[in-house]
Amino acid sequence: MDALPHLDLVRPRSLDEVIAARAAYAESRLLGGGTDLVVNIRRGIVAPPVLIDVNGVPELRTIKADAAALEIGAAVTLAELAAHPDVARRYPVVAQAAGHIAGPTQRNMGTVGGNLCLDTRCIYYNQSEWWRAANAHCLKTTGTVCHVAPKSRGVCFATFSGDLAPALLVLDAEIDIAGPAGRRTMPLADLYIGHARQNEPVTETRGDGKYFLALRPGEFVAAVRVKNTPGLRSAYDKIRIRRSIEYPVAGVAVALRRDDDTLADLRVAFTGTNPRPVRLSGAAALCGGPLDARVFAGLDALVRDQIMAMKTTFTPGHYRRRVAGVLARRLVQRLFEAAY
Ligand SMILES: Cc1cc2nc3c(=O)[nH]c(=O)nc-3n(C[C@H](O)[C@H](O)[C@H](O)COP(=O)(O)OP(=O)(O)OC[C@H]3O[C@@H](n4cnc5c(N)ncnc54)[C@H](O)[C@@H]3O)c2cc1C
Ligand code: SF4
Repeated sequence: MDALPHLDLVRPRSLDEVIAARAAYAESRLLGGGTDLVVNIRRGIVAPPVLIDVNGVPELRTIKADAAALEIGAAVTLAELAAHPDVARRYPVVAQAAGHIAGPTQRNMGTVGGNLCLDTRCIYYNQSEWWRAANAHCLKTTGTVCHVAPKSRGVCFATFSGDLAPALLVLDAEIDIAGPAGRRTMPLADLYIGHARQNEPVTETRGDGKYFLALRPGEFVAAVRVKNTPGLRSAYDKIRIRRSIEYPVAGVAVALRRDDDTLADLRVAFTGTNPRPVRLSGAAALCGGPLDARVFAGLDALVRDQIMAMKTTFTPGHYRRRVAGVLARRLVQRLFEAAY
C-alpha cells in the first residue's frame, strides 16, 4: 500500500462549520473514522486535497433511543451504537448490525455516516494503483469497460456492502442531510440509487455501482432517525468468509410482527449483493396468514427476482444470492418463533 499523498485536514467544531468547510472546499471529502476512505486514498483510488474531520462536532455525536424514536448522529461510532443498551433493547436489528461490522478496531473508529455512505466494492476496484493499471482500469475509476460485465455499456455493478443500511431500511429510517444549499430530510431508501440496469442510462435518481448515492455536491449525512413501531421484532445476520473483520458475503435484516399465529408485518432487506442495499418489495403481500410454506416460497421468489449479485467478490454471484435467501428464511423463522 502506498504512503498517503499530501492533504489538508479541517476540523470543524459545529454543524455550521462543516457546511461552511464543504462550501469552501469543493473537492473535499468528509472523514469519519477513515477506515475505508484512508484505505482508498492509500490505494490511489481517490485523492481528495482536503478532508473534513467530523468527529469533533458535538451535534453529530449524539444517540437518542427511547420508546418513541431512535436518532443517531452521523459521527457516532459503530462501537458506541452496538453497545448502547437502549438501542440493543428497543432497536436490536441496529445494534446487531453495528456489532457485526468488521472488527473491534474498525468499530471503535468507524462512524454511522461513513458506514451509510461506504463506497461500493469490487475485486477489480479495491486494489492498488499498480494492480489496477496492470489490469486496465475499469469504468468505476478512469477506464471505459466493466471487467465484471464487459457488455454492460457504461454500467458498473460494484456492490454496496455496508451492514447498517439494511437494518435501518427495515425500520423505515429517514436521514437528515445538510449542505451549502440547505438542509433536507428524506427516506434512507432514497439515498441509495444503485439500481444498475444494463442498457439503462445513469440518471440523478437511477444510478449504478459508481453513482450510488443521491447526495448533491457538498451534501453530507447529519443524522438518521427511526420511529418506533410497537410490537415489531427485528434482527440482523450475515455470512462472511471469516467470522470477524470481514465484509458480508450477504447480510440480511428482518423486522416482523406476529399477532397470535398470524404474520402481520414482514420487512426484509439485504446488503452485499447489489450496488445498493435492497429492501424487498412485495413482502407485505406474504402477510395475513400463518408462517407456512407459502410464505417461504414467496420469499424465495422475491429474493430470486430482486437480488442480483454479480462476480464482484471472490464468492460467485449465484452463491451469494442463494445464501441471502437461506439467511432470510432462517431469520424470519427464528424471529417468528422467538418468545416475546
Ligand atoms: C478490515 C476491514 C473490514 C471491514 N469490514 C466491514 C464490514 O464487515 N461491514 C461494513 O459495513 N464495513 C466494513 N468495513 C468498512 C468500514 O470499516 C466501515 O464501513 C465503517 O463504518 C466506515 O465508516 P468510517 O467512519 O470509517 O468511514 P470513512 O472511511 O471515514 O468514510 C467512508 C466514506 O463515507 C464518506 N462519509 C463519511 N461520513 C460521511 C457523512 N456523514 N456523510 C456523507 N459521507 C460521509 C467519506 O467521505 C467516505 O467516502 C471494513 C473495513 C476494513 C478495513
Ligand atoms: S463492477 Fe465493473 S466497473 Fe464496477 S468496479 Fe467492478 S469491474 Fe469496475
